[in-house]
Amino acid sequence: MSDAAPQETGKQHETRPFQAEVSRLLDIVANALYSNRDVFLRELIANGADACDRLRYLALTEPELLAGESELRVELHPDAAARTLEIVDTGIGMSRDELVENLGTIAHSGSAKFLSQLGDKKAEVDLIGQFGVGFYSAFMVADSVEVFTRRAGDSHGWHWRSDGRSGFTVEETVAAPARGTRILLHLKDDAGDYAEPARLQHIVKTYSDHIAVPVKLVRAEGGSTAGADGAPETLNAAGALWARPKGEIDEAQYKQFYRDATHAFDEPWHTLHFKAEGTLEYTGLLFVPAMRPLDLFDPNRRGGVKLYVKRVFITDDCSEVVPSWLRFLRGVVDSEDLPLNVSRELLQNNPVLAKIRQGLTKRVLGELEKKADKEPEAYVVFWEAFGPVLKEGLYEGDAQQDTLLKLARFKSTAVPANENGGWTSLADYLGRMPEGQAAIYILTGDDLDQLARSPQLEGFKAKGVEVLLLSDPIDDFWTARVGEVEGKPLRSVTRAGAELDKLGGEGAAEDGAAETPEETEKLLVALRTALAGKVKDVRASRRLTDSPVCLVADEGDIDLHLARLLKQHQRLDDTPTRILELNPKHSLITALAGKAESDAETVQEVGLLLLDQARILEGEPPLDPAAFSRRLAELVAKGL
Ligand code: ADP
Repeated sequence: MSDAAPQETGKQHETRPFQAEVSRLLDIVANALYSNRDVFLRELIANGADACDRLRYLALTEPELLAGESELRVELHPDAAARTLEIVDTGIGMSRDELVENLGTIAHSGSAKFLSQLGDKKAEVDLIGQFGVGFYSAFMVADSVEVFTRRAGDSHGWHWRSDGRSGFTVEETVAAPARGTRILLHLKDDAGDYAEPARLQHIVKTYSDHIAVPVKLVRAEGGSTAGADGAPETLNAAGALWARPKGEIDEAQYKQFYRDATHAFDEPWHTLHFKAEGTLEYTGLLFVPAMRPLDLFDPNRRGGVKLYVKRVFITDDCSEVVPSWLRFLRGVVDSEDLPLNVSRELLQNNPVLAKIRQGLTKRVLGELEKKADKEPEAYVVFWEAFGPVLKEGLYEGDAQQDTLLKLARFKSTAVPANENGGWTSLADYLGRMPEGQAAIYILTGDDLDQLARSPQLEGFKAKGVEVLLLSDPIDDFWTARVGEVEGKPLRSVTRAGAELDKLGGEGAAEDGAAETPEETEKLLVALRTALAGKVKDVRASRRLTDSPVCLVADEGDIDLHLARLLKQHQRLDDTPTRILELNPKHSLITALAGKAESDAETVQEVGLLLLDQARILEGEPPLDPAAFSRRLAELVAKGL
């Protein structure tokens, strides 16, 4: 069938444009983004299988939904003569609204955002290939796609059609299957081989072998390739791989399952297959991906772990199976103890599920610990992708806090970048800590490079005191929540200046170092007046060795970076005023000190410049950019 138009009822015909991001995506897809176009079939089969899974679940409570066609399956109908391929499923189908919503927009807002920002560089474009483009990948091989669908239990069927360019049309049709979805691809001139049975057999074996519903090949009538008995031939293994004993499964099969069943495009970084026996019985086949998905921080992201009960799919949208800070996991959990007709409401706060979650969490963290010990280099790859998410567990105060702290890795002033990627553990930090150091020193910010150059670090570096550099947004929050590690408080260096004198290393007890020269005292007094209302105080610094100034938070005041973060998120109205610290040994400060009493105007002008300079170093704009620029110009002109 190449055109179903005569069968339309003509009711509710509507033409719609695609969401802007879809158009962008289709542009990329149509221009053969993938070197491997075969994956379109995997995507469409996976969608069909998902639709079957969702129907099977609904039918547990509404068995009449299966009326007329109880077998859940996906069929492929190639027609080489017409150069078409149909992918048919007996799954849940779509209502009109679902059709418009699902096949006109991009569901995951994370991916949509990513796409809207995507440039034309090949490397960027290639990236999306690694995350899959779902249904829209049909346009890699087809220049026109039709979808006929009827939602289980509905009397109306719908026809969607698009050339993948301008938009799509939807109208009612009598040509929809009795239940489920039929996708008709009008193959491109150079894609005719996807209507060849042998080609399809090969692709299904390669990409969809472990899809849990049968994928059947229905050969074109009269075709010379009809099966021996004319019956459709099942192409895939269609079993629940996770239910098979570990010893019978090889690595390639796991990998393939990962891709078939979890819509993943990368290779699993780690695979975990286990059976828990005892009070509760469940099987887990879980994968830690190698790459961070685009929507990992999208609050509406669907979970990657599917919940099954006795081999029956229940849901892939259950936040109770794994804690949210393990949301990067993909795979399957299959419980023997939950009732088959468990409703989604029942899954919430379900004690069985809570135990399963605990058990899974422990196992996963245990595996991560092993990896961290035995393969530190590979572990760092994991940490770079998913560390920021694991740290959310620390913030939530999870029972596994101690293990999470063991797993955490940090950049540090004491570890060179070429040593294990510059990452260190807390245990190593504590191991290097000299006697007498009472705290673990940290500095939080948005950007590692900027942190490493922060003037706040100068005094600590000079004294050889190691500082951990933390640049994830969650860092300010979990460190505040955790408070201390092995009895050592986590202290921000922006607040710890006063402790520097007591810290070990050379120059620890430099005589008279704590005394402020009289000249500087005078300058401090003059600047306190000049900067009144703009800073809380002006003090001589012990932490600065190279820079003339920096801003610090007063004891008890909120940390500088945390205040900025909260302000960005409208969680804080007023940032407390800060303390400006001066480096009494810096030539600029000594020169200015010489004018403290004689030239109030210069002290004022340079004072304001120094304050703005300190703000810029903190990643904040000058108080008044125009005035800053004028002052700078005037002073430079004077000096020339
Ligand atoms: P994804 O599968 O990643 O959500 P797709 O673009 O492949 O993205 O599909 C978008 C949505 O369209 C799916 O989430 C699903 O709700 C719906 N859909 C796609 N194909 C089918 C199908 N064969 N039957 C029912 N619903 C489908």
